[in-house]
Amino acid sequence: MKVAKRTFDAVIVGAGGAGMRAAVTLAESGLKTAVISKVFPTRSHTVAAQGGVSASLGNSEPDHWTWHMYDTVKGSDWLGDQDAIEFMCKQAPQVVVELEHYGMPFDRTDEGKIYQRPFGGHMSNFGEKPVRRACAAADRTGHAMLHALYQRNVRANTQFFVEWLALDLLRGVDGSVLGVIAMELETGEVTVFQAKATLFATGGAGRIYYSSTNAFINTGDGVGMAARAGIPLEDMEFWQFHPTGVAGAGVLITEGVRGEGGILRNASGERFMERYAPNAKDLASRDVVSRAMVTEMNEGRGCGPAKDHVMLDITHLDPKTIMTRLPGIREIAIQFAGVDPIKEPIPVVPTCHYQMGGIPTNYHGQVMAEDGVVPGFYAAGECACASVHGANRLGTNSLLDLLVFGKSSGESMIEQIRKEPAALPEIPQGEIDKTLARLNRLDQQKQGASVHETRLAMQRSMQKHAGVFRFKNLLQEGVEQILAIEKQVQQTEIKDKSQVWNTARMEALELDNLIEVAKATIVSANARTESRGAHVRDDAPDTPEHPDGRDDVNWLKHTLWYRDGNRLSYKPVVMKPLTVEPVALKKRAY
Ligand SMILES: Cc1cc2nc3c(=O)[nH]c(=O)nc-3n(C[C@H](O)[C@H](O)[C@H](O)COP(=O)(O)OP(=O)(O)OC[C@H]3O[C@@H](n4cnc5c(N)ncnc54)[C@H](O)[C@@H]3O)c2cc1C
Repeated sequence: MKVAKRTFDAVIVGAGGAGMRAAVTLAESGLKTAVISKVFPTRSHTVAAQGGVSASLGNSEPDHWTWHMYDTVKGSDWLGDQDAIEFMCKQAPQVVVELEHYGMPFDRTDEGKIYQRPFGGHMSNFGEKPVRRACAAADRTGHAMLHALYQRNVRANTQFFVEWLALDLLRGVDGSVLGVIAMELETGEVTVFQAKATLFATGGAGRIYYSSTNAFINTGDGVGMAARAGIPLEDMEFWQFHPTGVAGAGVLITEGVRGEGGILRNASGERFMERYAPNAKDLASRDVVSRAMVTEMNEGRGCGPAKDHVMLDITHLDPKTIMTRLPGIREIAIQFAGVDPIKEPIPVVPTCHYQMGGIPTNYHGQVMAEDGVVPGFYAAGECACASVHGANRLGTNSLLDLLVFGKSSGESMIEQIRKEPAALPEIPQGEIDKTLARLNRLDQQKQGASVHETRLAMQRSMQKHAGVFRFKNLLQEGVEQILAIEKQVQQTEIKDKSQVWNTARMEALELDNLIEVAKATIVSANARTESRGAHVRDDAPDTPEHPDGRDDVNWLKHTLWYRDGNRLSYKPVVMKPLTVEPVALKKRAY
C-alpha cells in the first residue's frame, strides 16, 4: 500500500475541547498546526457536556481557588496530584474569562456577570456548604464552548483533517514521538502525519461499558494507540458512574438539575441522600451518590416493578426555571423517559460516564513514561491523566481540565518546537509496517469473530465485572473473560466483504483500542485491593482502621499498566502542591 506523507510543526489528534484549546494556542503563535478528527469537530463529545465549567469566580457569593483545590483533592479521594490540582484551580478563572472573550455565550446574572450554579462536591470554606462555582450556558455548556473554540481555530488558520482516523503513534529509534499514521475515511488512503510535537486529545472510552452516557465515538483510540506504542496507562481502574442516566436509555441528565434544586427519591418518596450525606445531600460527590442509589435498589427500595431505578424529582421547581436553565433536560426526559419533568419525576440509574485514568502526563501536558518525559509527545483532556481527578472527578472539572491542560500543552509544544532543528528525523519503516499489517490482517481475515458481537461481549463483561460496586471473585473472573475476548478481537472479521465501507473497518479498528482500555481497567482494578473513590470492593469494607476501605499505607499510589504482559507498576502520588500547604489526608465525608 502506498503511504503519503504530510509534515507539520504540530499535529493534534482530537477536535474536542482539549484538542481545540491547544490548537488555538499553537495556531495563533504562527505554527503550522494540523487537527485530525474522526468526526466533524463540533460533533466531538464535548458538545454533549451539559452542566458547566468550574471556576472560583465568586460571581454570586464568595469563593476562592484554594476552596476549589480542597474540594478537588477530597473528591479525588487524595489520589489526585496536588501540584497539578493547584495549577488547574488557580488558572480556572483566567481560562474561563479567556473563553468568554473567544465569544462563549455564558448565561448571565442580573448584573451581567457569568451565571454560576451549585454542583456536586463544590463547597465553600473547605467543605462547609455548597457554593455556586459551575459557570453555565443553560444545560448546553459544552455545545457553546466547542463552537466558540472551533470558530477561534478557523480564524487562526488551524488546518483540520475531518473524518480521518488516526491508527497508530509513530516513534523514532530513540523512543521520541514523530507523529501519527492515519486513514481518510472517505477514500481509505493512509497518510503519515509527521510533526515536531504530537498531542493526543482523543477523549474518553466510556464505550467499554454496556450502559454509558458517552457517544459511540468514545472508544479510547488515543489510549489504545499509546498502549500499543509501549506507553503505560495510569489509574485505569477508576471509572465514574454518573448517578443520573435515564433508566433504560443511559442518556445523561446533568447534575446541574440537582444544582438547581432537584431531589433523588426512592420508592416511598423518601429523600434518601439525607441518610448518606447529611451535609451535601443530593450534591455529594458522584461516586457517593451512585453507591447510595445502588444500595437503595439492592435493599428493595428502588422504583418500578423491578425496583431497578430511583426518581429525580424537579416538580417542585418553578416551571420558568426549568424552561430557562434546563430546557435540554426537559426535552431529553420527554423523549427518552416519556415524562415531562415539570409534572412527573424522571426515572434514573447510575451509568458509566467518565474515565479518570489515561495517558500519564505532568501538568505541562508532557507524557511521562517510567523513565521520564517522552520527547515530542503530549496528551490532554479525558484521554490524559495529569492527574487532577484521582479516584473520582468532580462535575464541571473536566471542561476545566480541557481548557487548562489544552492551553498548557499547547504552550509546552511551542517551547519544544522552537528549539527543534528544521529537518525532521527519519521515521523507521518498521513503525509504518506495523499499522499496514494490522489493516492487511483485517482485510484478509476469514472465519473470524464478528466485530459487533465481540464488542458486545466485552461491554457486557465489563458492566458485570467492574461496575459501581466491585467484588473480588467477579474481578478475577473478569480478568479471565476479558483476556479471552482479546483473543477474539485479534481475529475479528468484516463479515460482508462484497460491500466493505471504511466505517466498518473503523469499527474494527476502534475495537482494537477498546480492548486495550478494558484490559488495563480490569487488570488494574483486580490488583488494587483497597476501596478508594470510584473503586469500591466488597473485600475492602469500611473499618475503624480503614475508613471507607481506603488503605493509605499500602495504596496511596498511582497504578501504571503496561500492555506488554499486563505488567503493573506503581508511582507515588504528588502530595505537595506548588505554593500552598498540602490538603492533609482525612476521611471523606459529605
Ligand atoms: C453527556 C456528557 C455530559 C458531560 N457534561 C459535563 C459537564 O457539564 N461538565 C464537565 O466538566 N464535563 C462534562 N462531561 C465530561 C466532558 O464533557 C468530557 O470529559 C470532555 O468533553 C472530553 O473532551 P476531550 O476534548 O478530551 O475529548 P472529546 O470531546 O471526546 O473529543 C475527542 C476527539 O478526538 C477525536 N478522535 C478520537 N479518536 C480519534 C482517532 N482515532 N482519530 C481521529 N480523531 C479521533 C474525536 O473525533 C473528537 O474530535 C460530560 C460528558 C458527557 C458524556
